[in-house]
Amino acid sequence: MTWAWFDESLGEGYRLGLEIVETIYEEVSEHQRLSIHQSTHFGRVLALDGIVQTTEGDEFIYHEMLAHLPLLAHGEAREVCIIGGGDGGMLREVLKHPVARATMVEIDPHVVELCRTHMPSLSDGAFDDPRADLIIGDGARYVAETDRRFDLLIIDSTDPVGPGEVLFSAAFYRDCRRCLAPGGILVTQNGVPMLQPAELTTSYRRLSAIFADVTCYLAPVPTYFGGFMAFGWASDDPTKRHVGEDRVAERFAAANLATRYYRPALHNAAFALPGYVADLLN
Ligand code: SAM
Repeated sequence: MTWAWFDESLGEGYRLGLEIVETIYEEVSEHQRLSIHQSTHFGRVLALDGIVQTTEGDEFIYHEMLAHLPLLAHGEAREVCIIGGGDGGMLREVLKHPVARATMVEIDPHVVELCRTHMPSLSDGAFDDPRADLIIGDGARYVAETDRRFDLLIIDSTDPVGPGEVLFSAAFYRDCRRCLAPGGILVTQNGVPMLQPAELTTSYRRLSAIFADVTCYLAPVPTYFGGFMAFGWASDDPTKRHVGEDRVAERFAAANLATRYYRPALHNAAFALPGYVADLLN
């Protein structure tokens, strides 16, 4: 039986095809086009404006690397802020740590509702955790106006198109720095360097003008087509990026985390950049 195909074309000259059994839901919200599909290989797939955001099949890689790596690097984060993250996967992973509060600022309530209903495994009850604080609003406006301070800011955004574009601006990054407590860390979703090289270079240059220690780290997320996915790293405390593997392993054991991708041995190795990525940071 031939099923239909969901084709994502984020750039010119290449596309990602996912075989789908059915489209579970589709709507156009105030901010973007939302759709959820049942794929034959990756489980349910969330797409926004036709771009794959997350799939049940490989979301663990992205959410574990963007949550546990900075949390274990920091070591004593109490206040965490997630910008975006509407599917709830990042909130789920952050709340596995003994944080005091996880604030999540998501611009589109439809994404939260849609994923809670049709992809509940992503949030897995995280929105009901008393430490979860969901704010519906523009993340750029939030960091410009809040008087809260955070030990970790996770920018779990869409790509720099549509509502997500502002989350890659220098002004946004400056406001993020303002919201970080001493020793705080900012990490970002920064695209696939092989296919979106300019996105990484631009973010790196903007962050380097604002923070003392800026780089990126990598993990392969199959449905973010094109090889390694880059995660931006910025902090004014360089020691946060230089935690020995033994210390990371101690923290990982103490947190009693069940992970399917992140491992302490991967922590520092993720910052070892292949030449073509390192060249984008020069
Ligand atoms: N893991 C995905 C990826 O790497 O592509 C991103 C996950 S999540 C679905 C991205 C979220 O960012 C969406 O729910 C979208 O509504 C939200 N978003 C986009 N622009 C935003 C903004 N300016 N403020 C807050 N949330 C925003």
